[in-house]
Formats: sequence, C-alpha cells, structure tokens
Amino acid sequence: MAEQRWIAETLFEPEGFRMTYAVEKVLYEMQTEHQHLVLFEHRTFGKMLMLDGATQVTTMDEFVYHEMMTHVPILAHGKVREVLIVGGGDCGIAEEVLKHKTIKRVTQVEIDESVIEFSKEHFPEFTTPVFADKRFESVIADGMVYVGQTDRRFDVIIVDSTDPQGPGAVLFTKEFYTRCRRCLTKGGILVTQNGVPILQSGELTTTVGHFRSLFKDATCYVAAIPTYVGGHMAMGFATDNSKLRQTPEKMIAARYKKAGRFKTKYWTPAVHKAAFAVPRFIEELLEKAKPSKAKPSKQKAKPSKR
Ligand code: SAM
Repeated sequence: MAEQRWIAETLFEPEGFRMTYAVEKVLYEMQTEHQHLVLFEHRTFGKMLMLDGATQVTTMDEFVYHEMMTHVPILAHGKVREVLIVGGGDCGIAEEVLKHKTIKRVTQVEIDESVIEFSKEHFPEFTTPVFADKRFESVIADGMVYVGQTDRRFDVIIVDSTDPQGPGAVLFTKEFYTRCRRCLTKGGILVTQNGVPILQSGELTTTVGHFRSLFKDATCYVAAIPTYVGGHMAMGFATDNSKLRQTPEKMIAARYKKAGRFKTKYWTPAVHKAAFAVPRFIEELLEKAKPSKAKPSKQKAKPSKR
C-alpha cells in the first residue's frame, strides 16, 4: 500500500501552524516561472489548488468566495458594464461575473499563464463557459503594470490575487491601489481579497489605510470560507460613492432579478447586506486603519509574512 502523501498549507508557519491535507491523487505539480503550483484531489474538499503553499480554490467551497467577490460590488454598483479582474487564473471569478447579462466586457489580467492553461484542463466548470463568452478578454501580464498603463476604464475592479507573497505582494501596495483608482469610472468600486483578519490583521488594516487615503468610502465585508482557515475572510471595498454600500436590500434584489436571477449557493440580497455587518474585533481593525501617508512607492513591495 503506497504511503499516504500529505500536502501542507504553509501560509501560517510564521503563526506557528500548518494545515496538512491527505492527498488522494496529485493532478498537476510544477514550479512555474512565478510560483509553485500543485493541484490535487482531496476526499472532502474535492480538487484543491495551492500556490506557494497557500490554498487558492477548492471545488467544495469555491462558491462562497467567488459569489461574494463578484455579486456584492456588481449589485451594489447597479450599472456595471466593464469589469477588470486582477489575478483570477482559475477563472472562477470571471465565471460568476459573466452571469450578469448587463455586463459588456470582462478583462482578466493574470501574471501566470500556466494557471490558466492547467485550469482549462482541471477546472472546466469555470474555464469552458468563460472562454466561450465573447465578452471575456484574457491578458497575461503583471496586474501592477497593466493598471499603470491601460487606457481602459472599469466600473468594478476585482483583485482576485494570491496573498502578499511572491508575485502577489505588489497587489497590496498603495501604488497599486493608486493605479486602480486611476482606472475606475466615477463612483466605481474596487474589491480585494484581504485574508482572514483574526490571523492577518495587519493585511486588512494596511489595505484599508491605503484605501482611506485614496477613496471616500473604504471598508470591508466578510464571508466564512471553510478552507481559508481562520474564520471570517475580509474583502476590501473602496469607492467614492458612499451610497453604494447603503443600497437597500429591496433594490439589490430588484437588480439581481434584472441581472437574470441566476442560481447562487451563498450570496443572497440579505447575505449581501449582512456581510457589511462585521464583528466588533474587525470593526476595531477598521478603526485603526488610518489613511496612509505613504507616498505611492514605485518599488516592489517586500513580501510580508503572508
Ligand atoms: N481564488 C483565490 C483566492 O481566493 O485567493 C485566488 C485565485 S487565483 C489562483 C490568484 C491568482 O493571482 C494566481 O493565478 C496568481 O498567478 C495571480 N497573481 C499573483 N500575482 C499577480 C500579479 N502581480 N498580477 C496578476 N496576477 C497575479
């Protein structure tokens, strides 16, 4: 009987713990130009993708993150035509965005083409509908460079990045957020994946501090994603139109109906509204997030511990 292989999530080694997953079968493993990539089958979580030792997506609970990172900003905005996704290589985010019939174009800027290529084979549930949709455009580039150069403007920018390590580190800098702001239309919304505040408080406070020096309304909303260990996951939310976050549930529901009332497994109009009611300890982290004075730096961000 072959020895059971275990794969460790090493993201929280600085915090003194790892999670290890029993591997049924490794489907793909390589050192890409940018990061270590392993995709394997797990008896409970289905297919699990890890990049540089951090869990990115599992077929068992991907719907929570993908629905909450897309439908919240799109339905809070109400008139989205152009969406930018930075990262998003597995195409789970793009698949959710394209469910909105009113959206004209989705541009995805992914640094690592290997992630897209292997997702075509192993996550066809995401990639097949996405690449069949004429509204989808895939760009292989560093998101930091793209937002500094593009003359396109977006109503929603979704930063579906890895964690602030490796190629993802620059996507947590003031310079990056400054460039995103340049690419947003008036009243546009920027959302970012910001880890689990109970273990990565600095990541959330820093990002929202940068947001507060650039946008009129900067906060986060939360969702519970079982395989992003640590309880609530925070999604950064920034816009100059502070009314968007206050959109009444009835209006969100009406927009959802107009968008086609597609099937969801986590997001609902009520969950959308409730997601901004964050627990006290996260409120305190947000209160600490003072507008950062840091001048947008041109240097690459130093990879932080997560
Ligand atoms: N859904 C996952 C999550 O919840 O964190 C993340 C999805 S996706 C796998 C993250 C993607 O960000 C990866 O494909 C990675 O290659 C990409 N990425 C990292 N740094 C990037 C950068 N600077 N520009 C563009 N894409 C980047």
